[in-house]
Amino acid sequence: MTRKDAQGRRLCTATTNKGQPCRGPARKGATVCRKHGGSLPEVKAKAARNVRDAIGDLVDPVLAAFGVMLEDPKTPAAVKVSIGNSILDRAGYKPVIRVEGVPALAVLEAWKEDLEAEKLTSSADV
Ligand SMILES: [Zn+2]
Repeated sequence: MTRKDAQGRRLCTATTNKGQPCRGPARKGATVCRKHGGSLPEVKAKAARNVRDAIGDLVDPVLAAFGVMLEDPKTPAAVKVSIGNSILDRAGYKPVIRVEGVPALAVLEAWKEDLEAEKLTSSADV
């Protein structure tokens, strides 16, 4: 049986030196806390795989639920747009980000030349 703490986190399945069940939170995707092996590279790697697998198992149900919501005429348009944006973003159709207001390199080089010419002029005045 999985034990949980007051916050609903799964607790470590190890037993303390005094024979009591450990009260530490289990690492996400693992059954033990960091003190009972949760920090070991192999445990961390397996925990990460377990989390990825659990997320992977949710992809199809989430997409199915999104599909139902998109087809439902009662779903608000804003929600449909949000669903569409999320799906398109994750499918690689993010909008192109253009940075405006940054001068072109030629303009910067012209400013640099002006500044250097100004420096030469002001030092010649001294
Ligand atoms: Zn523990």
